[in-house]
Amino acid sequence: MTPLVHHPAYDAESVPDGHRFPMRKYSLVAERLRAAGREFHQPELASRTALASVHDPAYVDAILGQTLDRVGARRIGFEITPAIALRSRASVGGTCLAAALAMEAGRAVNLAGGSHHADGQGGAGFCVFNDVAVAARQFLDEGRAARIAVVDLDVHQGDGTARIFADEPDIYTFSMHCETNWPREKPPSDFDLGVAAGTGDAGYLALLAPALVRVIEEARPDLVFYNAGVDPHREDRLGLLDLSDSGLYRRDRLVAETCARVGLPLCAVLGGGYSKDAGAVARRHLLMVEALDAAFD
Ligand SMILES: [Zn+2]
Repeated sequence: MTPLVHHPAYDAESVPDGHRFPMRKYSLVAERLRAAGREFHQPELASRTALASVHDPAYVDAILGQTLDRVGARRIGFEITPAIALRSRASVGGTCLAAALAMEAGRAVNLAGGSHHADGQGGAGFCVFNDVAVAARQFLDEGRAARIAVVDLDVHQGDGTARIFADEPDIYTFSMHCETNWPREKPPSDFDLGVAAGTGDAGYLALLAPALVRVIEEARPDLVFYNAGVDPHREDRLGLLDLSDSGLYRRDRLVAETCARVGLPLCAVLGGGYSKDAGAVARRHLLMVEALDAAFD
């Protein structure tokens, strides 16, 4: 069974139902897994020092003290409340813990995270702190990994992660996204694969399979972070791709099997997913846990 990381603070109750960001999905994912008999590892909150390893310390303090100016908050899309500050720290702690569990068990999932639009200067697009960037930085700095790959299959380009690691040769960033989805400005990752709007399961998977081979060859990683955003789904409110449930599952299975085959630790995070029906988004995220269970067991 894939080790799972969850923190009760992931669902920040200050964000109302009906907000474009379906905050309830974090509770729903955890409830469904708990009902299926799964247990969770609970992370510690990320420290200020860890957060400031990739983000401007003044920005970190503005979030932790809830003093971020209105322009910064508007870029993120949430009012910065104590609950948002707490969930953001818990989410980063969760990805760090999931990475450690993946090193032991081959794979692990943080049932949150994937805040890939946050960069060194600040947050954007519902992303406060870049959890994958903090965890990758920590594993590299502490010598727990020598080379790291970030595989980002959220429908939106991983612009924050690309900017943070633009000059870091030991962290390889790969983003496969819809070319016409936000953000309009897409700073270069090590490998960007922009896909045309409307691309469906077959076209998407035919592009992904060789891309993953290239990532492993070029990155030569000893740890992989996987942003498994479900917003490439055809019914997503924001994403412009046309993947089905089965397409998402096969995508996740392909990533998991690529890593499992060569014994490469895989740390997966939920990433984006948008619908008025948070339960529908939660069900899509659960496909990823199923795919990892199947690929590694
Ligand atoms: Zn997204």
